[in-house]
Amino acid sequence: MPDTPRPSRLVPEVDLARDGRQTGFIRLFHSTHDSAYGFLPIPIVVVKNGEGPTALFTSGNHGDEYEGQVALTNLAQWLTPDMVQGRVIILPMANYPAALAGRRVSPIDDLNMNRIFPGDPDGTVTRQIAHFIDSQLIPLADLVIDLHSGGSSLNYVPCALAKQSADPALYAKQLAALRAFGAPFCYIQGGAQGQGGDQTLGSGADRRGSISLGTELGGCGTVNPAGLKIAERGLRNLLVHLGIIGQTHWQEPPEPTRFLDVRGQDYYVYAPEGGVFEPLVALGDMVVAGQPAARIHTPETPWQKPVEIAFKAAGMVMCQRIPARTKRGDCLFHLASDLAVD
Ligand SMILES: [Zn+2]
Repeated sequence: MPDTPRPSRLVPEVDLARDGRQTGFIRLFHSTHDSAYGFLPIPIVVVKNGEGPTALFTSGNHGDEYEGQVALTNLAQWLTPDMVQGRVIILPMANYPAALAGRRVSPIDDLNMNRIFPGDPDGTVTRQIAHFIDSQLIPLADLVIDLHSGGSSLNYVPCALAKQSADPALYAKQLAALRAFGAPFCYIQGGAQGQGGDQTLGSGADRRGSISLGTELGGCGTVNPAGLKIAERGLRNLLVHLGIIGQTHWQEPPEPTRFLDVRGQDYYVYAPEGGVFEPLVALGDMVVAGQPAARIHTPETPWQKPVEIAFKAAGMVMCQRIPARTKRGDCLFHLASDLAVD
């Protein structure tokens, strides 16, 4: 007998097939010492009008990344059914327990939701949420954008990104959608990063044939105003691009996007020792191979010289570690370099 797919245990309060504007929660029943019969309320907004494409917009996959959460909250209050042809599904706190706690990982099971897709309907809380998104929401979506930023430990040049789909037709649609989003920079993720790239929400979307995009809108555990503005405009332009809203409702066209890529481990700089991280370049700088990137100081042994680390490749500094106190193996920077796209 073939395996039947195991059903999600999560219960949405909204009917995803119904026309109109619906707001409510996806209930994840979670029985604890403090709340025996309670549920975790994952907020969801659905705006639908007739037939047409579906866009799924998510943020709060990592709970300490805020630009996307603010952009989607604003979008949820702006969109009305009469503006829409098709459907927009908005999930601003995708990993609700992590987002409520302002932490990258869930305080309940300590899991990073963006490293466990496609999730597990019978797993711990974070695995159950990932499974619901993967099995119930992504299959409805023509396009998925999962809004990230650098979180507490990193800061980014605000940008959009995509992991290149293995399907050439889908990749072409990713590039068109990135142009429509119109971030000043966007980078195409390669496969050699060792960053759990096949277990992300975006990889789940790609596996199911949706146009899958992401962002890195800033970081430092705060709201980057420039990154927020890029997201606000970009999300509306994506809806115009998909034909879900008409240009009568939104008339700020995208700006040109500079395409970059991250070509592998040489684009990353890691701390070789623990200590105090002194950056020698700034976010957005263009650097060359061999250029000093950072010093690691050890005030615990002030007679010891700092360790100096150099970039192994040339490119633009896209991402920088924030906390000065650093352990061996921490990522200090990553680079991106120009990419020719058709
Ligand atoms: Zn993130």
